[in-house]
Amino acid sequence: MFAETCSAWLELRNVGAVPAEIPRPAHVPERCDLAIVGGGIVGLAVARELIGRNPRASVCVLEREAEIASHQTSHNSGVIHAGVYYEPGSLKARLCVEGARELYAYCEQRGIAHERCGKVIVASDSSELGRLERLERLGTANGVPGLRRIDARGIEQLEPHARGIAGLHSPDTGIVDFAAVARSYAHDVREAGATVAAGCGVETVSAAGRSLRLGHTRGVIEAGHAVFCAGAWADRLAVRAGADPDPRIVPFRGAYLRLVPERRELVRSLIYPVPDPSLPFLGVHLTRHSDGEVLVGPTALMVGARDAYRVAKIRPHDLLDTLAWSGTWRMLARWWRTGVTELRHAALRSAFVAAAARYVPELRVDDVRPAFAGVRAQALARDGRLVEDFVFSHTERALHVRNAPSPAATSSLAIARRVADEAERAFALRH
Ligand SMILES: Cc1cc2nc3c(=O)[nH]c(=O)nc-3n(C[C@H](O)[C@H](O)[C@H](O)COP(=O)(O)OP(=O)(O)OC[C@H]3O[C@@H](n4cnc5c(N)ncnc54)[C@H](O)[C@@H]3O)c2cc1C
Repeated sequence: MFAETCSAWLELRNVGAVPAEIPRPAHVPERCDLAIVGGGIVGLAVARELIGRNPRASVCVLEREAEIASHQTSHNSGVIHAGVYYEPGSLKARLCVEGARELYAYCEQRGIAHERCGKVIVASDSSELGRLERLERLGTANGVPGLRRIDARGIEQLEPHARGIAGLHSPDTGIVDFAAVARSYAHDVREAGATVAAGCGVETVSAAGRSLRLGHTRGVIEAGHAVFCAGAWADRLAVRAGADPDPRIVPFRGAYLRLVPERRELVRSLIYPVPDPSLPFLGVHLTRHSDGEVLVGPTALMVGARDAYRVAKIRPHDLLDTLAWSGTWRMLARWWRTGVTELRHAALRSAFVAAAARYVPELRVDDVRPAFAGVRAQALARDGRLVEDFVFSHTERALHVRNAPSPAATSSLAIARRVADEAERAFALRH
């Protein structure tokens, strides 16, 4: 029922090509019914969903950076995940499968470049077979379309340069530029009459009678309700709004290499290793992008700034937040060996390439050049657990997206629906 309403609304709002950039509004309103803090793919999807349901509401998206989608949304693998990895019944499992389906439909309607190119997960030796079987069970339980087991020959047929003893093929996994998707969401939001205000970092959150007062870098806005979708800064804003400090966001930098053009033929679509099931990261993979580039990565290194696009960047406040969190030390006690491996990958290009050469043996250090890095906003619980699932919570008059790591970009439309449902329940929204 909702899908029909949504697609009818999409058709009505079909505006064609994605604009290159979102113009900065001359002024930011002083009042609105709904404020969305954070102009990444999640915040913009939430704004779009809320205004679609409440067409008479005044909605304002406040984004700190000069451009929307400046952080995780534009620094990632660009993979539309199919839902293989996640515990059945978890939010990730449900929202990824639904979100991928909706995202493909959205991209088709809007003419956003994407490709359902499929992916192969490769088991390199017999020690990985049990984990591969587990992935097959999870993917099947989650309803991942077309997922099937393949043997060594099957791997080579799909990816002639990959080698392994067994694999999984997910034909429904695809690629897209998530920043282009976010720009399209922003366009929808503005077309529906809402404001998208960039250069507007929210600094204070306080109660003001029957509304929330948000102090930002360009003034103050009073909002009836707010949804915070601030990625790597989600915990700080939640605490300012009165929420529990647990979980805290700890930044994990993910650096990529890219294949030189003459070696791109080593990869047809997407090749992944079998990941360690106790970590929320998928391991160094090889991904073809919508622009033809082939990336190797990402690493997963805990860093000293929530925007550590350069590995050496340290922000004392961020570092202190990480070090003062008891969960950090509990996590390090458990995962120090993995931490050392990640350090090697970050420091030694040969070690990084060797991780991918396990399943594409022809890959050599000379085949790669440095590419970009992203910083994952990963929630870390006080007990040292890297929080796997998406986490949403609320305080008075506000909802908080507290953990939206991968596959949140894939799942953005389904997350938005879930947040809007929650907002209706918690705040009895009707505009
Ligand atoms: C290396 C890497 C690889 C990934 N690969 C994939 C993938 O292949 N597929 C997939 O589905 N997902 C992937 N992800 C995850 C995906 O990118 C994120 O889950 C998704 O982008 C989260 O979107 P977001 O809007 O929550 O966060 P962000 O894009 O980080 O947006 C948060 C926004 O909030 C703004 N903000 C913060 N504080 C304030 C404030 N005080 N006031 C106003 N605005 C504020 C920020 O400036 C930012 O624009 C990957 C992530 C990384 C880092």
